Amino acid sequence: MSDSQSTDFDPVAPNAGEDFEPVDVFDDSDDFDLRPGADSCYKCSTCDTNCPVAEVDDDFPGPKFQGPEQWRLKRRDDDHSVDDSVMDCSNCMRCDNACPSGVGLSQMHNTARGEYVSEEMDKLSVEYVRNRLLANYRKSAWLASKVPRLANAAANFGPARWLGEKLLGVTGEREFPDFATETFTEWWAAQGGAAGSKERAREARERRGEPRDADKKVAYFHGCYAEYNTPEVAKALVRVYEHFGYEIVVPEQGCSGTPMFANGMLDDARRDAEVNVSSFADLVEEGYDAIASCTSCSMAIRQEYPELFDIDGIEDVAANTFESVEYLRIHEDLEGELADADVGDDLAAEFAYHAPCHARNQGLDRQAVELFGDLDGVGVEDVGDSCSGISGTYGWKAEKYETSMKIGDEMFDHMEAAEGETGMTECPTCAMQMEHGTGYDVRHPLELLEAAVVA
Ligand code: SF4
Ligand code: SF4
Repeated sequence: MSDSQSTDFDPVAPNAGEDFEPVDVFDDSDDFDLRPGADSCYKCSTCDTNCPVAEVDDDFPGPKFQGPEQWRLKRRDDDHSVDDSVMDCSNCMRCDNACPSGVGLSQMHNTARGEYVSEEMDKLSVEYVRNRLLANYRKSAWLASKVPRLANAAANFGPARWLGEKLLGVTGEREFPDFATETFTEWWAAQGGAAGSKERAREARERRGEPRDADKKVAYFHGCYAEYNTPEVAKALVRVYEHFGYEIVVPEQGCSGTPMFANGMLDDARRDAEVNVSSFADLVEEGYDAIASCTSCSMAIRQEYPELFDIDGIEDVAANTFESVEYLRIHEDLEGELADADVGDDLAAEFAYHAPCHARNQGLDRQAVELFGDLDGVGVEDVGDSCSGISGTYGWKAEKYETSMKIGDEMFDHMEAAEGETGMTECPTCAMQMEHGTGYDVRHPLELLEAAVVA
């Protein structure tokens, strides 16, 4: 394990690369031991008052107990076992942002959850099997993408949903998202892959009056959802980046690990993190920056990877990873380009924008509102700072469904009070929850950006 167990990731300022210096906050620990870090907690309870689960579930003891108090107990008693309530934390990571003392709460929760699952959970239990399936969504999505029409019909066949709830504990209240008939990477290959992108980017640079050989290159982490369910988001990213003259590569990749961290499946998360770091580290060394269109994916790579794993190159990859719109805001005059733009069709609309918790943690919560504020024919209204409640796989668990919807209530009310009936967010599962709670169609900011700037 690494002796650099945390980072000085600044949740407010956008990550401009050079500020991301991993530091050892648990400086007297030689191994993966979070107990000394618990001493930074002065029991103010700010984390508890910011926890969306604790707000609606009186039985949940909250982040202070899950984090520093539990690790203090472990300091007194090495054999102290992790409390099972750690499985009720949704891993929204809002407590990280809330703590004035910089306690690494989500790192503590992730580690405790991993220990609970590996040491306390019955591997033959329905809960373990269900959580493992949810955490490894990529595998079932890959399978479904081979027969997307059949998978779509089967997944939303009423009796199948009922059985899924009775046998596996996956809520039957939600509709499964559709699988695309063509994955993003199939489309990408048909566009000529990296070679095609290089050519198109060079032409775009020429059109923009930039040197044909300018050093503008990014490696795209598309994640599972844009690959199998919403390739339109990934295609929008490609078109927008190429419009600005960026050459794109799409390296081999696994899941970012977000659903695995939330379910305590740290071995699965490490397996995919090794693939991702090994793919992206070489590219970063060659001068590429990594970009992600899902805010939970960028969050995982920037913060959770260096906090939880010691893999060659992991800190460089974390320091050079950006959310995709954030990256363009840093390097291009997006506001200038949008000043003369307008959009047509269904995207000339009023949007009810929800900032995902993981975007908030990266300081990106006002991004879409600021960016599209003056765009002709478009309105973007922030629906407040509440959590959507779904938190990835959390709201898909039958026993968590009601809690998830109670958390989401505030966001649903604000969306309904906003002008317009289209939602906007960067997180695919927040989008599911927004759609489920209001019936609105939900779009990604990249889709609006594509409509505004790509001819
Ligand atoms: S990660 Fe979210 S749900 Fe979990 S303890 Fe922190 S604030 Fe609460
Ligand atoms: S917010 Fe930080 S300092 Fe306050 S109780 Fe929570 S962990 Fe401790």
